[in-house]
Amino acid sequence: MPAITPEQWTTLQRVAEPPPGVADRPVERISTAPSLLEGAGFPVRRPWPSQQIGFREADPFLLLDHMGAVEYAPGEAKGAPWHPHRGFETVTYIMDGAFEHHDSQGGGGYISNGDTQWMTAGAGILHDEMPPEALVRTGGLFHGIQLWVNLPQRLKWTPPRYQSLEAAQVTLVASERGDALLRIIAGELAGYSGPGVTWTPITVIHASLEPDARLCIPWPENFNALAYVLSGSGSVGTTNVLVREGQGVAFGPGASLTVTASSSPSGPNPRLEVLLMGGVPIREPIASYGPFVMNTHADIVQAFEDYQSGRMGTIPAQYLSPNDGDAPSHT
Ligand code: MN
Repeated sequence: MPAITPEQWTTLQRVAEPPPGVADRPVERISTAPSLLEGAGFPVRRPWPSQQIGFREADPFLLLDHMGAVEYAPGEAKGAPWHPHRGFETVTYIMDGAFEHHDSQGGGGYISNGDTQWMTAGAGILHDEMPPEALVRTGGLFHGIQLWVNLPQRLKWTPPRYQSLEAAQVTLVASERGDALLRIIAGELAGYSGPGVTWTPITVIHASLEPDARLCIPWPENFNALAYVLSGSGSVGTTNVLVREGQGVAFGPGASLTVTASSSPSGPNPRLEVLLMGGVPIREPIASYGPFVMNTHADIVQAFEDYQSGRMGTIPAQYLSPNDGDAPSHT
Protein backbone atom coordinates (compact mmCIF):
# COMPACT_ATOMS: atom_id res chain seq x y z
CA MET A 1 0.00 0.00 0.00
CA PRO A 2 2.01 3.03 -1.22
CA ALA A 3 -0.22 5.50 0.65
CA ILE A 4 2.53 7.31 2.49
CA THR A 5 4.16 4.83 4.88
CA PRO A 6 7.52 5.65 6.49
CA GLU A 7 10.04 2.85 7.13
CA GLN A 8 10.28 3.72 10.80
CA TRP A 9 7.24 4.47 12.92
CA THR A 10 9.06 4.50 16.23
CA THR A 11 10.63 7.90 15.57
CA LEU A 12 7.25 9.59 15.06
CA GLN A 13 5.46 11.63 17.71
CA ARG A 14 3.15 9.38 19.68
CA VAL A 15 -0.47 9.85 20.70
CA ALA A 16 -0.83 8.92 24.37
CA GLU A 17 -3.61 6.51 25.31
CA PRO A 18 -6.33 8.12 27.38
CA PRO A 19 -5.96 7.44 31.13
CA PRO A 20 -7.96 4.61 32.74
CA GLY A 21 -11.52 5.61 33.53
CA VAL A 22 -12.11 7.45 30.24
CA ALA A 23 -15.28 6.04 28.66
CA ASP A 24 -14.34 4.02 25.58
CA ARG A 25 -16.92 4.16 22.80
CA PRO A 26 -18.98 0.96 22.51
CA VAL A 27 -19.70 -0.60 19.11
CA GLU A 28 -23.26 0.27 18.13
CA ARG A 29 -23.62 -0.92 14.56
CA ILE A 30 -21.66 -3.01 12.04
CA SER A 31 -22.33 -2.77 8.33
CA THR A 32 -21.00 -5.26 5.80
CA ALA A 33 -20.64 -3.12 2.70
CA PRO A 34 -22.62 -4.37 -0.31
CA SER A 35 -20.93 -4.17 -3.71
CA LEU A 36 -22.42 -2.06 -6.47
CA LEU A 37 -21.39 -0.35 -9.70
CA GLU A 38 -20.67 3.40 -9.83
CA GLY A 39 -19.96 5.86 -12.65
CA ALA A 40 -19.37 4.12 -15.97
CA GLY A 41 -19.44 0.75 -14.17
CA PHE A 42 -16.60 0.44 -11.68
CA PRO A 43 -17.23 -1.68 -8.58
CA VAL A 44 -17.40 -0.07 -5.14
CA ARG A 45 -18.25 -1.29 -1.65
CA ARG A 46 -20.50 1.13 0.27
CA PRO A 47 -20.69 0.67 4.08
CA TRP A 48 -22.87 3.76 4.39
CA PRO A 49 -25.51 4.85 3.84
CA SER A 50 -26.86 1.37 4.53
CA GLN A 51 -29.58 -0.31 6.57
CA GLN A 52 -27.21 -0.59 9.51
CA ILE A 53 -25.45 2.78 9.23
CA GLY A 54 -27.91 5.36 7.89
CA PHE A 55 -27.66 9.13 7.44
CA ARG A 56 -28.39 9.58 11.16
CA GLU A 57 -25.45 7.47 12.32
CA ALA A 58 -23.08 8.70 9.60
CA ASP A 59 -23.86 12.45 10.09
CA PRO A 60 -21.88 14.65 9.17
CA PHE A 61 -20.82 12.09 6.54
CA LEU A 62 -23.21 10.99 3.81
CA LEU A 63 -21.54 8.17 1.93
CA LEU A 64 -18.36 6.13 1.76
CA ASP A 65 -17.32 4.26 -1.40
CA HIS A 66 -14.38 1.85 -1.23
CA MET A 67 -12.89 1.48 -4.72
CA GLY A 68 -10.81 -1.71 -5.04
CA ALA A 69 -8.27 -2.81 -4.25
CA VAL A 70 -8.47 -4.15 -7.80
CA GLU A 71 -5.86 -5.26 -10.33
CA TYR A 72 -7.21 -3.86 -13.59
CA ALA A 73 -6.55 -5.69 -16.86
CA PRO A 74 -5.52 -3.48 -19.81
CA GLY A 75 -8.52 -1.48 -21.03
CA GLU A 76 -10.63 -2.36 -18.01
CA ALA A 77 -10.28 0.69 -15.71
CA LYS A 78 -13.36 2.92 -15.69
CA GLY A 79 -14.29 6.19 -14.02
CA ALA A 80 -17.18 8.58 -13.67
CA PRO A 81 -17.75 10.80 -16.75
CA TRP A 82 -19.05 14.36 -16.43
CA HIS A 83 -21.71 14.82 -13.75
CA PRO A 84 -22.80 17.56 -11.34
CA HIS A 85 -22.76 17.90 -7.55
CA ARG A 86 -24.41 20.37 -5.19
CA GLY A 87 -24.74 20.77 -1.44
CA PHE A 88 -21.80 18.79 -0.04
CA GLU A 89 -18.13 17.82 -0.47
CA THR A 90 -16.51 14.88 -2.25
CA VAL A 91 -13.24 13.66 -0.73
CA THR A 92 -11.16 11.30 -2.87
CA TYR A 93 -8.18 9.51 -1.31
CA ILE A 94 -6.10 7.29 -3.58
CA MET A 95 -3.81 4.71 -1.96
CA ASP A 96 -2.69 2.84 -5.12
CA GLY A 97 -2.95 3.86 -8.76
CA ALA A 98 -4.28 7.23 -9.83
CA PHE A 99 -7.39 9.24 -10.64
CA GLU A 100 -7.69 12.37 -12.74
CA HIS A 101 -10.30 15.08 -12.26
CA HIS A 102 -11.43 17.97 -14.42
CA ASP A 103 -14.18 20.44 -13.59
CA SER A 104 -16.38 23.08 -15.14
CA GLN A 105 -14.39 25.88 -13.50
CA GLY A 106 -11.13 24.86 -15.17
CA GLY A 107 -9.86 23.11 -12.04
CA GLY A 108 -8.88 19.53 -11.47
CA GLY A 109 -5.86 17.47 -10.64
CA TYR A 110 -4.00 14.19 -10.63
CA ILE A 111 -4.20 12.23 -7.39
CA SER A 112 -2.20 9.10 -6.65
CA ASN A 113 -0.41 7.09 -3.96
CA GLY A 114 -1.63 8.81 -0.80
CA ASP A 115 -2.93 12.10 -2.26
CA THR A 116 -6.36 13.45 -1.39
CA GLN A 117 -8.59 15.77 -3.34
CA TRP A 118 -11.06 17.53 -1.08
CA MET A 119 -13.67 19.16 -3.33
CA THR A 120 -16.35 21.40 -1.93
CA ALA A 121 -19.11 21.25 -4.53
CA GLY A 122 -21.16 23.82 -2.60
CA ALA A 123 -23.48 25.77 -4.90
CA GLY A 124 -22.72 23.45 -7.80
CA ILE A 125 -20.03 22.17 -10.12
CA LEU A 126 -19.61 19.67 -12.95
CA HIS A 127 -16.66 17.31 -12.95
CA ASP A 128 -15.33 14.02 -14.23
CA GLU A 129 -13.29 11.47 -12.27
CA MET A 130 -11.36 9.12 -14.50
CA PRO A 131 -8.41 6.74 -14.42
CA PRO A 132 -5.51 8.32 -16.35
CA GLU A 133 -5.02 7.06 -19.92
CA ALA A 134 -1.82 5.23 -18.94
CA LEU A 135 -3.65 3.22 -16.25
CA VAL A 136 -6.44 2.34 -18.69
CA ARG A 137 -3.90 1.25 -21.33
CA THR A 138 -1.62 -0.88 -19.17
CA GLY A 139 -3.98 -1.86 -16.37
CA GLY A 140 -2.65 -2.13 -12.85
CA LEU A 141 -3.43 -1.85 -9.17
CA PHE A 142 -6.07 0.66 -8.08
CA HIS A 143 -7.24 1.32 -4.52
CA GLY A 144 -9.01 4.38 -3.16
CA ILE A 145 -12.01 5.76 -1.37
CA GLN A 146 -14.51 8.53 -1.92
CA LEU A 147 -16.14 10.08 1.11
CA TRP A 148 -19.09 12.48 0.92
CA VAL A 149 -19.15 15.14 3.62
CA ASN A 150 -22.39 17.03 4.20
CA LEU A 151 -22.61 20.81 4.42
CA PRO A 152 -25.09 22.55 6.72
CA GLN A 153 -27.84 24.60 5.07
CA ARG A 154 -25.92 27.87 5.65
CA LEU A 155 -22.96 26.50 3.59
CA LYS A 156 -24.73 24.62 0.79
CA TRP A 157 -24.43 27.65 -1.50
CA THR A 158 -20.77 28.33 -0.82
CA PRO A 159 -18.68 28.71 -4.01
CA PRO A 160 -16.91 25.49 -5.11
CA ARG A 161 -13.42 24.98 -3.66
CA TYR A 162 -10.57 22.51 -4.17
CA GLN A 163 -7.97 21.37 -1.71
CA SER A 164 -5.17 19.25 -3.18
CA LEU A 165 -3.71 17.45 -0.18
CA GLU A 166 -0.49 15.80 -1.28
CA ALA A 167 0.69 12.60 0.38
CA ALA A 168 3.78 14.35 1.77
CA GLN A 169 1.59 16.91 3.58
CA VAL A 170 -0.30 14.28 5.58
CA THR A 171 0.47 14.44 9.32
CA LEU A 172 2.05 11.19 10.55
CA VAL A 173 1.94 10.13 14.19
CA ALA A 174 2.21 6.77 15.95
CA SER A 175 0.25 4.99 18.65
CA GLU A 176 1.59 5.07 22.20
CA ARG A 177 3.27 1.67 21.68
CA GLY A 178 4.61 2.63 18.25
CA ASP A 179 2.85 -0.28 16.54
CA ALA A 180 0.21 1.73 14.67
CA LEU A 181 0.71 4.50 12.13
CA LEU A 182 -1.86 7.27 11.99
CA ARG A 183 -2.12 9.41 8.85
CA ILE A 184 -4.14 12.49 9.76
CA ILE A 185 -5.65 13.69 6.47
CA ALA A 186 -7.98 16.34 7.89
CA GLY A 187 -8.94 17.74 11.24
CA GLU A 188 -7.25 17.12 14.54
CA LEU A 189 -6.22 14.24 16.79
CA ALA A 190 -4.80 14.88 20.27
CA GLY A 191 -3.44 18.27 19.24
CA TYR A 192 -2.00 17.11 15.89
CA SER A 193 -3.65 18.61 12.80
CA GLY A 194 -3.92 17.21 9.29
CA PRO A 195 -3.67 19.40 6.17
CA GLY A 196 -7.34 19.24 5.17
CA VAL A 197 -9.47 22.25 6.10
CA THR A 198 -13.06 21.39 6.91
CA TRP A 199 -16.17 23.59 7.02
CA THR A 200 -17.46 21.92 10.17
CA PRO A 201 -15.34 20.08 12.79
CA ILE A 202 -14.26 16.75 11.24
CA THR A 203 -11.34 14.34 11.62
CA VAL A 204 -10.33 11.80 8.95
CA ILE A 205 -7.49 9.32 9.62
CA HIS A 206 -6.03 6.34 7.75
CA ALA A 207 -4.47 4.00 10.32
CA SER A 208 -2.20 0.98 9.71
CA LEU A 209 -1.81 -1.47 12.57
CA GLU A 210 0.90 -4.10 12.87
CA PRO A 211 -0.34 -7.60 13.77
CA ASP A 212 -1.61 -7.64 17.36
CA ALA A 213 -1.32 -3.85 17.71
CA ARG A 214 -3.85 -2.16 19.97
CA LEU A 215 -4.76 1.42 19.16
CA CYS A 216 -6.57 3.50 21.76
CA ILE A 217 -6.91 7.20 20.99
CA PRO A 218 -8.85 10.10 22.48
CA TRP A 219 -11.91 11.13 20.48
CA PRO A 220 -13.97 14.31 21.05
CA GLU A 221 -17.20 13.53 22.87
CA ASN A 222 -19.22 15.87 20.63
CA PHE A 223 -18.12 13.97 17.46
CA ASN A 224 -19.68 10.83 16.06
CA ALA A 225 -17.19 8.01 15.38
CA LEU A 226 -17.00 5.64 12.41
CA ALA A 227 -14.48 3.08 11.25
CA TYR A 228 -14.12 1.19 7.98
CA VAL A 229 -11.80 -1.76 7.39
CA LEU A 230 -9.89 -1.31 4.11
CA SER A 231 -8.00 -4.58 4.48
CA GLY A 232 -7.11 -7.16 7.07
CA SER A 233 -9.05 -8.06 10.17
CA GLY A 234 -9.17 -7.30 13.86
CA SER A 235 -11.61 -6.10 16.48
CA VAL A 236 -13.15 -2.85 17.69
CA GLY A 237 -14.16 -1.54 21.09
CA THR A 238 -13.10 -2.88 24.48
CA THR A 239 -15.46 -5.85 24.03
CA ASN A 240 -13.43 -6.88 20.93
CA VAL A 241 -16.17 -7.07 18.30
CA LEU A 242 -14.60 -8.85 15.30
CA VAL A 243 -14.35 -6.90 12.04
CA ARG A 244 -12.83 -7.65 8.65
CA GLU A 245 -12.24 -6.05 5.26
CA GLY A 246 -15.34 -4.35 3.88
CA GLN A 247 -17.06 -3.75 7.22
CA GLY A 248 -18.06 -0.37 8.63
CA VAL A 249 -18.51 0.41 12.32
CA ALA A 250 -20.58 3.08 14.05
CA PHE A 251 -19.48 3.69 17.63
CA GLY A 252 -21.68 4.93 20.45
CA PRO A 253 -20.89 7.82 22.82
CA GLY A 254 -17.64 8.09 24.74
CA ALA A 255 -14.26 9.85 24.81
CA SER A 256 -11.90 7.28 23.26
CA LEU A 257 -11.77 4.75 20.41
CA THR A 258 -10.15 1.32 20.48
CA VAL A 259 -9.11 -0.79 17.47
CA THR A 260 -7.06 -4.00 17.71
CA ALA A 261 -5.35 -5.82 14.84
CA SER A 262 -5.58 -9.58 14.43
CA SER A 263 -2.57 -11.48 15.77
CA SER A 264 -2.70 -13.99 12.89
CA PRO A 265 -3.23 -11.97 9.71
CA SER A 266 -3.76 -13.59 6.32
CA GLY A 267 -3.26 -12.18 2.85
CA PRO A 268 -0.41 -10.27 1.27
CA ASN A 269 -0.60 -7.25 3.61
CA PRO A 270 -0.25 -8.39 7.23
CA ARG A 271 -1.42 -5.01 8.57
CA LEU A 272 -4.92 -3.96 9.49
CA GLU A 273 -5.75 -0.92 7.35
CA VAL A 274 -8.62 1.10 8.74
CA LEU A 275 -10.20 4.49 8.18
CA LEU A 276 -11.27 6.36 11.32
CA MET A 277 -13.50 9.38 11.01
CA GLY A 278 -15.92 11.53 12.92
CA GLY A 279 -17.33 15.00 13.23
CA VAL A 280 -19.94 17.16 14.86
CA PRO A 281 -23.30 15.96 13.50
CA ILE A 282 -25.16 18.56 11.43
CA ARG A 283 -28.63 17.26 12.38
CA GLU A 284 -30.59 18.89 9.55
CA PRO A 285 -33.16 17.26 7.26
CA ILE A 286 -31.53 15.56 4.27
CA ALA A 287 -33.09 15.52 0.81
CA SER A 288 -30.78 13.45 -1.38
CA TYR A 289 -31.13 12.51 -5.01
CA GLY A 290 -28.17 11.18 -6.98
CA PRO A 291 -25.44 13.80 -7.05
CA PHE A 292 -27.39 16.44 -5.09
CA VAL A 293 -27.74 16.55 -1.30
CA MET A 294 -29.93 19.35 0.00
CA ASN A 295 -32.45 19.95 2.82
CA THR A 296 -35.82 19.82 1.03
CA HIS A 297 -37.47 18.26 -2.01
CA ALA A 298 -37.88 21.76 -3.49
CA ASP A 299 -34.09 22.24 -3.24
CA ILE A 300 -33.62 19.04 -5.28
CA VAL A 301 -36.10 20.14 -7.97
CA GLN A 302 -34.22 23.43 -8.20
CA ALA A 303 -30.88 21.60 -8.41
CA PHE A 304 -32.11 19.63 -11.45
CA GLU A 305 -33.38 22.81 -13.09
CA ASP A 306 -30.13 24.63 -12.39
CA TYR A 307 -28.08 21.72 -13.72
CA GLN A 308 -30.16 21.37 -16.88
CA SER A 309 -30.01 25.08 -17.63
CA GLY A 310 -26.22 25.20 -17.16
CA ARG A 311 -26.27 27.24 -13.95
CA MET A 312 -23.90 24.74 -12.29
CA GLY A 313 -21.43 25.24 -15.11
CA THR A 314 -20.86 23.48 -18.41
CA ILE A 315 -18.36 20.93 -19.71
CA PRO A 316 -15.29 22.80 -21.01
CA ALA A 317 -15.11 22.56 -24.82
CA GLN A 318 -11.84 20.59 -24.83
CA TYR A 319 -13.49 17.73 -22.94
CA LEU A 320 -16.69 17.50 -25.00
CA SER A 321 -17.02 14.19 -26.76
CA PRO A 322 -19.81 12.32 -28.58
CA ASN A 323 -20.22 10.26 -25.41
CA ASP A 324 -21.40 13.24 -23.36
CA GLY A 325 -25.00 12.58 -24.28
CA ASP A 326 -26.25 13.84 -20.93
CA ALA A 327 -24.38 17.12 -21.18
CA PRO A 328 -26.44 20.05 -19.92
CA SER A 329 -28.06 22.28 -22.51
CA HIS A 330 -25.96 25.30 -23.38
CA THR A 331 -28.93 27.38 -24.46
MN1 MN B 1 -18.37 13.14 -8.54
